[in-house]
Amino acid sequence: MTRPARARIDLAALQHNFHCVQQAAPDSRVMAIIKANGYGHGLVEVARALPEADAFGVVTLDEAVSLREAGFDRRIVLLEGFFGADDLPLVSGYRLDVVLHNTSQIDWLEQTPPGRALDVWLKIDTGMNRLGFAPSDVSTTIDRLARLNCIGSLRLMTHFACADAPDNDYTPRQLDRFREATHDLQGECSLANSAALLAWPDTRLDWVRPGIMLYGGSPLLNKTADELGLRPAMTLGTRLIAVNRRQAGDAIGYGGEWVCPVAMPVGVAAIGYGDGYPRHAPSGTPVLVNGKRASIIGRVSMDMICIDLRSQPGARIGDEVVLWGEDLPVDEVAARAGTIAYEILCSVNKRVHFDYTE
Ligand SMILES: *Cc1c(COP(=O)(O)O)cnc(C)c1O
Repeated sequence: MTRPARARIDLAALQHNFHCVQQAAPDSRVMAIIKANGYGHGLVEVARALPEADAFGVVTLDEAVSLREAGFDRRIVLLEGFFGADDLPLVSGYRLDVVLHNTSQIDWLEQTPPGRALDVWLKIDTGMNRLGFAPSDVSTTIDRLARLNCIGSLRLMTHFACADAPDNDYTPRQLDRFREATHDLQGECSLANSAALLAWPDTRLDWVRPGIMLYGGSPLLNKTADELGLRPAMTLGTRLIAVNRRQAGDAIGYGGEWVCPVAMPVGVAAIGYGDGYPRHAPSGTPVLVNGKRASIIGRVSMDMICIDLRSQPGARIGDEVVLWGEDLPVDEVAARAGTIAYEILCSVNKRVHFDYTE
């Protein structure tokens, strides 16, 4: 018997969510964002499930190379570009697209001109104030790129800071800045992440870049995934490995902060922060035991969590526990743990056994 912590990845749900992207942005091409191991779902498996994606977005060179080695011939975009001149032979050899966001990257290109024309996505900082060229530097940057003589296609992109809030006017202000910086330039444009492509139709343009919605997390603050018609791609589950009767006054787990108010059954499930379950999930965070809601109690350990089984006196060793996924939204668990679905999804690690189902 292997340890029962399992992530079931529903490839049909991924495809369904991809079709939601296409429905929302029918005139845009889709760069499926599969960085961070496909938001924890498995890089190559997610890529295989998305045959209609026009491009893949990743962050590390390793991810891009894995995709090429797995046989993917499509456009692959390095969302932070390259990290030094020594990356350029691989970038060029594996025909990877790069985001350019900084003049040092252009210095490196001048030092080590790539062996073949490089397809570039020029990142413009329209208000995220993180990566990208200032709007006022865009035209001199493009002139400098033209002099390099190694640029193939040039696309223009930006990233939104507040697209998840549908009544925040920061997004239309960023869109205006983007238009102003690019109105006299050629090249396809890409602005929208999941939140923007759903909530801000004007931002869709040539290429959309959905991430979280592909996996069934809600990108919007005011709507659940279910309300958006998205389906969870990952169901994280395990089993009860102990069910113990505790007395009133017994303290559960490290620190002994949760004390049994009455005599009660307490389950122990085989999953913990060593698997990627959030350590900060407090007592009261929901789980499903045999499909019914129960709550975790006490601190999350590296390998285990404890569960209040008062609502399910019949629960026994071997019974199924779901941490999130079908019937228990990952967004709800993340919110209880003071974080976002993105973080807890991409934290699930290799100690968990992954199953892929159609
Ligand atoms: C991660 C990322 C995305 C995807 O964002 P979601 O909110 O997951 O849709 C889009 N664009 C860039 C540049 C990113 O880094």
